[in-house]
Amino acid sequence: EASVAEYLGVKHAISVGNGSDALTFILRSLQLGKDDEVICPANSFIATAWSIIAAGAKPVFCDVTDDFLLDPNDFQKKITKNTRAVIPVHLTGRVFEINLIREICNDHSISIVEDAAQSFGAYDSKGAKTGAIGIAGAFSLHPLKNLNICGDGGIITTNDLNIAQNCILLRNHGLV
Ligand SMILES: *Cc1c(COP(=O)(O)O)cnc(C)c1O
Repeated sequence: EASVAEYLGVKHAISVGNGSDALTFILRSLQLGKDDEVICPANSFIATAWSIIAAGAKPVFCDVTDDFLLDPNDFQKKITKNTRAVIPVHLTGRVFEINLIREICNDHSISIVEDAAQSFGAYDSKGAKTGAIGIAGAFSLHPLKNLNICGDGGIITTNDLNIAQNCILLRNHGLV
């Protein structure tokens, strides 16, 4: 955890059972209600969408562009008064350029939660590493991912103390 946090330049790296738990715990830390909406790309591994449901919110699918990443134009069209978060997915290690939507997210108080399951070590055109771009990032260490371990694993990364503390409670039955 310490070396991941240092490598990515984030305050907190929290290891969990898998990438799906990483996403779900981050979203649960945002305390979403059933009418709250989280926008995610329609083209991703299914865990992106179901983690939103597992956290008690509603997934809203957004189209992708030719690079298979979230379409910033369609993203804008999908925003409603209930939109609380967006999950850009850095699919196959391609990094979604967050600057394209950051201002819109700031204007609407939309949290950016990165699905970085397939992108450990990837960075955007300005050198920002995935997992250190949004309010939190979720990595998977599943054997099929680009950084993998034997068995299963995941990592949550964040600079947000509340999210970090909440995820530490969620990962192990409230035990710290
Ligand atoms: C693999 C993957 C996940 C889930 O990770 P697990 O460790 O398998 O739970 C989530 N999102 C994407 C894009 C993935 O590829």
